[in-house]
Amino acid sequence: MDNKNIEIPKYIQNIPKVDKLYQQISNLPQFKDTARPIVIQTIQDTLERLRKGVIKGKFQEADLHESKVINEVQFMLNKAMQPNLQPVINATGIIVHTNLGRSLLASSALEHIIQIACHYSNLEYDLQTGKRGHRYQLVEDLICSLTGAESAAVVNNNAGAVLISLQTIASNKSVIVSRGELIEIGGSFRIPDIMALSGAKLIEVGTTNRTHLRDYQNAISPETALLLKVHPSNYSIEGFTASVDLKEMVHLGHELSLPVMYDMGSGNLVDLTSKDIHGEPVVQTILSSGVDIVTFSGDKLLGGPQAGIIAGRKAIIELIKKNPMARALRIDKLTLAALEGTLRLYQDPKTVFNKVPTLAFITRPLLEIKSAVETLYSAVKDLENDHIQVNIVKTNSKIGGGALPVQTLPTYCIGITSEKRSVDSIERYFRSLNPPVIGRIENDQYLLDFRTVLPDEMKVLQKFVGDFKAAS
Ligand SMILES: *Cc1c(COP(=O)(O)O)cnc(C)c1O
Repeated sequence: MDNKNIEIPKYIQNIPKVDKLYQQISNLPQFKDTARPIVIQTIQDTLERLRKGVIKGKFQEADLHESKVINEVQFMLNKAMQPNLQPVINATGIIVHTNLGRSLLASSALEHIIQIACHYSNLEYDLQTGKRGHRYQLVEDLICSLTGAESAAVVNNNAGAVLISLQTIASNKSVIVSRGELIEIGGSFRIPDIMALSGAKLIEVGTTNRTHLRDYQNAISPETALLLKVHPSNYSIEGFTASVDLKEMVHLGHELSLPVMYDMGSGNLVDLTSKDIHGEPVVQTILSSGVDIVTFSGDKLLGGPQAGIIAGRKAIIELIKKNPMARALRIDKLTLAALEGTLRLYQDPKTVFNKVPTLAFITRPLLEIKSAVETLYSAVKDLENDHIQVNIVKTNSKIGGGALPVQTLPTYCIGITSEKRSVDSIERYFRSLNPPVIGRIENDQYLLDFRTVLPDEMKVLQKFVGDFKAAS
């Protein structure tokens, strides 16, 4: 010991022995199949903590009783055996929540993944000729028929799609972008940085709030290789604003034989205006305006897996496919299976809103959300408690994921407040549960927004809220 003044309590000798604990733990039914090294390591870590605690005076003799130590080891083992990547209940109401995994997959997409994961597949094998095939081809026709594009390719994500497109079209040349569109998407996607990485030179035109066609016209030089439009996904500039209509940009580009590219971000394939959601461009409409190439994400509004979709003119897409970077950014077979499974659901515009969870959450009837909230409320409202208040709150959910930054959807939440606990500590409590519940704080109230809660999670939430009331 480095500190001679501290006297180590004698009862430190009572700390149980590793072998004895191992024997007891490995006899418990729930741990009988647990690998020995994991159990031993957990016991050793627990005992080490106990030893340090005793020396610091944190633990008394009673804390070293074998039964107590066994309980502690069990708790730590359960924790150690939990996968690091685990399901959570998204009660934020934010549908495309990047930190919580963006979109949930449709069940048919999931089945397709399972089939492809457990069997060999024709990933790069042409079943007609028996020769090498191309993985893109498996979804290319589907993307083309859904979007009206001449040709399509898919890569790892939309950041990759933008990067490879810029690199292919404009490396060592320049690209003109409006200052109002030099966006940053949370988590390090910045147009100027991606541009630098691609080897293209960024030419900014206009001002933050206003850009006119003449700004593009004046900036065009022999160096120019591309006019780029970027969907300012996650923010909106309001007030005295002007941006150039895509059709005008296309007209200008084509007059001068310059391709026009649109990074759409979310990539929406359905008309949401019929669901009273406005302002998110539809891929088909954008392509029909004559834009040469669009890029969008697979896991935002499209509701599929993480992927980057590039659609547009064949001549450009062919060059992109041949770019060596395509190999580095290539899409994995399980993702491809999920993407194909998702895209096939779009072939039936009537059922797609029910089958793709992201679309189902967006169009979830308010009455359905209300009734789920009321069910939980009536189950917990009578649990005796004088300092926890549970009530029904009518507010708004966000779509998230850089789609429709301004539009919100009316929703119902369970609101929880306490006279004794801070709203932050309520938030921490729900986050520490298994499965963790992620809610949101609004007006100093902890909210569970039911828009994004799945039917089988309702019962779990009901128990959690009940337990919280009873225990607080
Ligand atoms: C989300 C987004 C990206 C990045 O897409 P990822 O699929 O996350 O790589 C790029 N551009 C825009 C406009 C976006 O909204």
